[in-house]
Amino acid sequence: MRTIVMSKQNIEGSIQSIKSRTKVIKKALDTAKQLKSRNDEPGNTTPTKRCYCGNNAKLTHQNKYGRVKEKLIRVENVPVYSCEECNEQFISGSDSLVYAVRLKEAYAENKNTIAFK
Ligand SMILES: [Zn+2]
Repeated sequence: MRTIVMSKQNIEGSIQSIKSRTKVIKKALDTAKQLKSRNDEPGNTTPTKRCYCGNNAKLTHQNKYGRVKEKLIRVENVPVYSCEECNEQFISGSDSLVYAVRLKEAYAENKNTIAFK
């Protein structure tokens, strides 16, 4: 009898922890959705970022080559902001992190070409 009661408590405990974990996952998904809808707003023109020269650099997608140790890896569709005024090109901070991670992954998987996303 006692063991049955204990295992019931264990099950309830597990259910509780699954419930709280599900809540955390749901919250993370909601945040991701919000971020996505912010980027996908309808009627948005090409995203721009302020270049250091003062002009707005427009978002383009380019193929880039990255080097990990002695290996050259081609990364396709990298989001690059391109300034028509001074020809400066740059990647946003969060994208450059993704870029670095993708390069490392490609190196680990011994790939020569990867897609940015
Ligand atoms: Zn510029």
